[in-house]
Amino acid sequence: MGELTPADFERGPLPVAHGFSPRAGGVSPPPWHSLNLGASVGDDPAAVGENRRRVARAFGVELERVARIDQVHGAAVHEATPGVTGLEGDALISDDPRWLLAVSAADCLPVILFDARGGAVAAVHAGWRGVAAGVAAAAVRALGRRYGSDPADLRAWLGPAIQGACYQVGPEVVAAVRADPAVPAAVAWPDPSAAGRWRLDVPGAVRAQLEAAGLPPVAIAASDTCTHCAADRCFSHRRDAGRTGRHWAVVRAPG
Ligand SMILES: [Zn+2]
Repeated sequence: MGELTPADFERGPLPVAHGFSPRAGGVSPPPWHSLNLGASVGDDPAAVGENRRRVARAFGVELERVARIDQVHGAAVHEATPGVTGLEGDALISDDPRWLLAVSAADCLPVILFDARGGAVAAVHAGWRGVAAGVAAAAVRALGRRYGSDPADLRAWLGPAIQGACYQVGPEVVAAVRADPAVPAAVAWPDPSAAGRWRLDVPGAVRAQLEAAGLPPVAIAASDTCTHCAADRCFSHRRDAGRTGRHWAVVRAPG
C-alpha cells in the first residue's frame, strides 16, 4: 500500500482534520499488525516509531508535534505544549494548528471536540473509568476556561469503541458509571447470557455527559464501528486478550 493519508482514517462529520487510525498501513508484526501506535504493548519500539511517524506525516506534522499524554483513566486535561509529554491525563486541548493531538485506545472511547466558532479542539480518552471521572465534561470546561469556547458551539465525534452489545462488565462498573447524575440508567442492562453481569454502552454514557455539559444533541455524532467486532479494521483489548495494538484518535486545530 502507498503512503498513509487521512483518507485511511475513519472520521466523523467535523469540519476539521481528525480521524481514528486504521489497523493497516504500518510495519508491526502480529499480534500488533500492522499500524500499532502503542509503545507499552510489547511491540518493537522501532516499529512503533515508524508507525507513529506515518500518522504524523499523514496529518502534516513532525512526530515532535504530536501531543501525547500518559493516559491513566482519569479526568485531567492538558494543553498541547512542548512540555506536555509524560504528563498524566486523559484529554488534550489546543487552538494551535502546529500540534496534532492524539489519544490512544483499543476499545475505550476516543472523543474529538471542535469549537465551530473559535476553532479550538480537544482529544479525549474515555473508558468506563473516564466516564465515572467525568473526563468528557472536564474537557468541555477546559475549552471554555482556556479558549472561551461556548459549549453551544462545540461539535463532538465519538470514535470507534467497543459498543454496548459487546461490552460485558460487572455491577461495580455499572454503579460507578451511573453515579454521575448526567448518565441515564438505560446505558447499562443485564447481560442476557451471564447472570449477575451487565452490558454497558460507554458511547451512550458519554453522549449524555456531553449533552449535560451543554452540547446540543444534534452536534454529537458517533461512529457505529465496534472495535470488538471489526477485527479486520480494529485492535480490541478485549477480543485479543490484551495481546494487540493501539489506535490513535487525532485532531488538529484549523490554521
Ligand atoms: Zn461488537
